[in-house]
Amino acid sequence: MISPRSFSEAVSRLVCGVFGAFSPRDYVAEEVYLGLSALQHRGQESAGVAWIDSDRRINVIKGMGLVYEALSQSVLAETPARSVIGHVRYSTAGGSMLQNAQPICANYAKGPVAVAHNGNLTNFDALRNTLENRGAIFQSTSDTEAILQLMAHQPRRSPFEALMRALAEVEGAYCLVVLMEEGLVAARDPWGFRPLSIGRRGDNYYVASESCAFSLLGASFVRDVEPGEVILIGSGGLKSYRLPVESGKKWLCSFEYVYFARPDSIIEGRSVYEARQEMGRRLAQSESVDGVDFVASFPDSGTTAALGFAAESGIPFEAAVVRNRYVGRTFIQPTQKVRELGVRIKLSPSPSLFKDRSAVLVDDSIVRGTTAGLVVSMIRECRARALHLRISSPPVRFPCFYGIDTPSSGDLAAAKYSLNDIAKTVGADSLRYLSASAMTDAIGLPPDSLCTACFDGNYLDGDSSSSPRGCCGKIFD
Ligand code: SF4
Repeated sequence: MISPRSFSEAVSRLVCGVFGAFSPRDYVAEEVYLGLSALQHRGQESAGVAWIDSDRRINVIKGMGLVYEALSQSVLAETPARSVIGHVRYSTAGGSMLQNAQPICANYAKGPVAVAHNGNLTNFDALRNTLENRGAIFQSTSDTEAILQLMAHQPRRSPFEALMRALAEVEGAYCLVVLMEEGLVAARDPWGFRPLSIGRRGDNYYVASESCAFSLLGASFVRDVEPGEVILIGSGGLKSYRLPVESGKKWLCSFEYVYFARPDSIIEGRSVYEARQEMGRRLAQSESVDGVDFVASFPDSGTTAALGFAAESGIPFEAAVVRNRYVGRTFIQPTQKVRELGVRIKLSPSPSLFKDRSAVLVDDSIVRGTTAGLVVSMIRECRARALHLRISSPPVRFPCFYGIDTPSSGDLAAAKYSLNDIAKTVGADSLRYLSASAMTDAIGLPPDSLCTACFDGNYLDGDSSSSPRGCCGKIFD
């Protein structure tokens, strides 16, 4: 039987948002502020922007909190910068500090450089040992700094050449935006773990973790940065280069479609909204649901899949769990008592809809079960007749080594306990998950181009012995 305590720890799903803008004539710092705001779902812990001024100096503004708390829109609107990068981050509890906020800047031998990173370098420990043995002094525990340190060991090369050399030595998941005098650089690892998109409005170019950041700026989505591609955007337009390492296969994070990405984003040509809705449809196809009055969701993460479930099953959808949109991260704290209070303040079931009725409740995933257990108990207080929990992804049984701070297998509910035990602990009358094949079918990309390691333990060769490390994160369970 599951110990309730094992379900009540915090867990972070680490993602970050990166954004870059280049214009031959316009000041773009405010646009980066707006772009980061559109990527706020990928990180709420800190935000930062960097640019190079006319005196060849790096300027950086970073702060803790949401974009509007960390940065001043009015100051950025007045900032004379035509090439700017930015970052939003969410750290684990221990790593939540301003010194870990990005972009990270350095005065490289051949000019200033600033870098913002989404992902996790799986060979960071080995790189750090090698670099420290060569005399490098690390200022932070961030794996992003390893990229700058590797560049510093190429002092005779231009910053762009040094970056290409550095990226040949790193392994794992990364999407980078890098600022240097040669222009704005964006790079995606050869496996393409995390999404990275290119947008354009006239002569202005934008690079963002997700395409949803472009519409706010009136920019159009052009294409994804390809896995293993490095683009350099400068006064000569956009130039594309290939990293000098080949992966042999794509390995896009399937969890981007399940949870991380915003539903209005397009990744690898696939609408996140459509993929998520299809997951809900396929979940409904896997069973016949009788005697259920309505379908509800854990807002917002389960809502799109719940709509798909409702459409497929013919059971009406009700917005029966309400999300308080005005609660900030104040309530997401690393103590159990405050965390539970945070869930209660953020999510609230409607007693009149649940009383004496039977519902299917859809969420995107269960990691430790904290939110599921609390929400189900709140619904029980509304005297629901029956509650059937449906999860629009397979059970999460393995940790992630690619930038998502899932707990070790020993703390993952589905790794330790049977489906029935999980259902009992969270208080649901029944619990079902989407199958792995149904999830990849719903995503619609070739299954061998998707990372599904946290569901099936199928890591890239050798990565199962790596230590999970996150650059940034997002509380999700
Ligand atoms: S292990 Fe899971 S969360 Fe991590 S990259 Fe793969 S699919 Fe995404």
